[in-house]
Amino acid sequence: MRGHLGIIGGGQLGLMLAQAADELGVVVWLADRVPDAPAARRSEFRLVQSWGEAVQVLTPGAQAVTWDREDVPLDALHNAAGLVPSAAALAAVQDRLAQKQLLDAIGLPTAPWIAAANASDAGQVIAALGLPVMVKARRGGFDGRGQMVARDRASLEAALDRFAQSGCIVESLIPFDDECAVLVTRSADDDLRHYPMVWTYQDDGQLSWAMAPHPRESALGTVLRPMIARLVRKLNYVGTLAMECFRCGDTVLVNEIAPRVHNSGHWTIEGCVSSQFSNHVRAACGLPLGDTALRQHCLMLNCIGTMPEQIERPGVTWHDYGKKPRPGRKVGHLTVVGRDAAELQERVAALPPDLLKRYALPTGLRKAA
Ligand code: ATP
Ligand code: MG
Repeated sequence: MRGHLGIIGGGQLGLMLAQAADELGVVVWLADRVPDAPAARRSEFRLVQSWGEAVQVLTPGAQAVTWDREDVPLDALHNAAGLVPSAAALAAVQDRLAQKQLLDAIGLPTAPWIAAANASDAGQVIAALGLPVMVKARRGGFDGRGQMVARDRASLEAALDRFAQSGCIVESLIPFDDECAVLVTRSADDDLRHYPMVWTYQDDGQLSWAMAPHPRESALGTVLRPMIARLVRKLNYVGTLAMECFRCGDTVLVNEIAPRVHNSGHWTIEGCVSSQFSNHVRAACGLPLGDTALRQHCLMLNCIGTMPEQIERPGVTWHDYGKKPRPGRKVGHLTVVGRDAAELQERVAALPPDLLKRYALPTGLRKAA
């Protein structure tokens, strides 16, 4: 019998990877540093004190080890065998400066950007980009934490100093029309499976909802797929990767990449033949990749802070991560499906108004609601 798949991190992504592995008959082990991690309810869960210990616990006998988070320190990984994706791929993405340099090197368009160390670089930033700008910590940011908009020199200096410990990347603030993402899974033998382009909406830096396919999938999907393909091939990346973008008319700029399964792809569980989780597990374990074709139109709604009352409705699937409520925390999500855009709209409109008012939905869906 082949060994288990080790998963560093037992958050909701680890939990959904484990659920996908169950369906494939792959045994998983998970390790996290917090006892109430969403995957802690699984019997194979191990509580550890550090990510280095997680690697030690998960590696012996494993056929592969992967992660559900990208902030695992690289030095915790140096003893890991069978890491998928590779530590080099993680290193190229974990630091926003390295990530921007990579995107530039392979010619993927991004917002104009410059690196900055602290407030003393404010003049240089303004000379290069003008104002307003988005200041991002080089490391450790997620869900909009670790970033600040600066509209004048004083707020720019404050932001640069706030993130001086890790250093910053500063970007022009892009007046985008909307945001979108594409996900791909790549196998070790270079089989690429692209997911349909998804429309994402971020509220205060955090993903609020995602709708697939994106209304401009047919025009822009053909632009984005070669871009993400170039990226995963350059990184010799194995597994699922997400690329988040800004759409400005018919052009796209890459915002950032995530070297893991991603919140913008949760809808693929219900929406595609094989989900992003299933394909990540398959890629890690050397199993043939599954079909990424769209099965149904989807709207994924993140449950932030508290879990709403879970009302049974046709075409609605609830995912409760079992987390304690806390403002700003992703505690679950729901996916609404329809065989076409019209049925999706009808089903969204039938959701309780108290739930719908949590989301700034696109006009069609909002009108129907
Ligand atoms: P994640 O949780 O996806 O990792 P994050 O906190 O790492 O998020 P980003 O994805 O870089 O940060 O930014 C979060 C959101 O902030 C974006 O989705 C977008 O809405 C907004 N944003 C980021 N950079 C810019 C920019 N240069 N111009 C305009 N808006 C931006
Ligand atoms: Mg992001």
